Amino acid sequence: MANGQTQHTNPLTEKLRLRLDEDQLTNCMRCGFCLPACPTFAETGLEAESPRGRIALMKAVTDGLMVPDQAFEEQMNHCLGCRACEPACPAGVKYGQLIEQARDAIEDHKRHKPWVQATRHAAFKTVFPHQKRMKWVGRGLQFYQKSGLRAAAHATGAMKLFPKHLRDMEKILPDATGRGVVEQIGERHPAKGEKIATVALFRGCIMDVLFTDTNIHTVDLLTAAGFEVVIPREQNCCGALHAHSGEAEGARELARRNIQTFKAAGVDYIVSNAGGCGAILTEYDHLLHEDPQWRDDAVWFAERVVDVSDLLVRVGRSLDFGEEETSDSTEQVRITYQDSCHLRNVMRSSDAPRKLMRQVKGAQFVEMKNADRCCGSAGIYNITQPEMAGQILDHKMEHAEATGAGYMLTSNPGCLLQMKHGIEEHGLSGRMKAVHIVDFLHERLKR
Ligand code: SF4
Ligand code: SF4
Repeated sequence: MANGQTQHTNPLTEKLRLRLDEDQLTNCMRCGFCLPACPTFAETGLEAESPRGRIALMKAVTDGLMVPDQAFEEQMNHCLGCRACEPACPAGVKYGQLIEQARDAIEDHKRHKPWVQATRHAAFKTVFPHQKRMKWVGRGLQFYQKSGLRAAAHATGAMKLFPKHLRDMEKILPDATGRGVVEQIGERHPAKGEKIATVALFRGCIMDVLFTDTNIHTVDLLTAAGFEVVIPREQNCCGALHAHSGEAEGARELARRNIQTFKAAGVDYIVSNAGGCGAILTEYDHLLHEDPQWRDDAVWFAERVVDVSDLLVRVGRSLDFGEEETSDSTEQVRITYQDSCHLRNVMRSSDAPRKLMRQVKGAQFVEMKNADRCCGSAGIYNITQPEMAGQILDHKMEHAEATGAGYMLTSNPGCLLQMKHGIEEHGLSGRMKAVHIVDFLHERLKR
């Protein structure tokens, strides 16, 4: 890092000073309690790759002791944003907010190559904010998967033109669809038996084109547990990818649109089945705290957001999960669980999924070592930082294999894809299957 006499004129320094929350930076007392929780510190042993180190770098820049250079940007980008450092911090430093503010300033300052700029524009401005366009992407993918194009791309070796980590991801993509949960089952679903509450399902954008069945199964579990479910048609992407990629204003705009839609639905809870989406939904109050027009409604919204496992355990009628219908074995199936970082560290929910898994008859839950540690998926981290993501995944799969489990359950689509990739890569596909916890429970729900 360069010490500089000209830091007062450095435009990135000025942007970081404007965005970074000075109180949060000074709250860090440099105790280091967060270090053992941090996956990038565990992998490298470097202070600059730890939460304390990254906060110190941000503080050094805002204090004018350092000019932010390429190495500074890299340290910020190496962070997974998993937020495992937050529950470990005795001072309550909101690290997740600091890293998002730093990335927002860096992004605002950066001049990307034209193709990167065009890709970001297409993803963050043209496709993700619009449900209908996401469905077009779903239909396009479906055509690619079903028409023979995919088979041809593999047979002709055309896939070799893409980097390995993209080829690996392509291999494990589930079947896509252009018909999401509302198009398939409609918007309103009555509770089975006496109604406990009315809930709205947050269907997600990627979730709804790649994991539509999981959304449908979520509705089934919720109605069986006594909830009336509505799925507001006009909802859109949660904004998590925007917020984590330095596109804060894009995230705020999506938040405003979602708040308006869900407020009109007038529900008791807003249910998410994807930890990454749920976490940002619970933080809409922070995202819009400087917007007087939306502040109160954002608080209304954030207070109602809950993960499906949590709602089933805390509020729902208890459900009977039997053994696999096809199972003719008397042996118990062994299951394990990979926490979604954002579900655990932001929504602070880790007991509820475990309670549900322990309720399944004929299944034995085995805790995996370091299940609370990030799997390396982290939004698009496995695409932007494939080397570090691969290293983290290798360690994860060693622990997964040691459990001897036949099922690896997760609560987030990104983690699920990363686990599928890890299982393939480590030759475990004959022995282990990665499944969303909702799908696993749904398959065993006794009607
Ligand atoms: S968010 Fe995760 S990777 Fe980043 S500093 Fe905190 S613990 Fe480390
Ligand atoms: S645990 Fe909290 S206060 Fe201690 S070094 Fe980490 S971020 Fe700073």
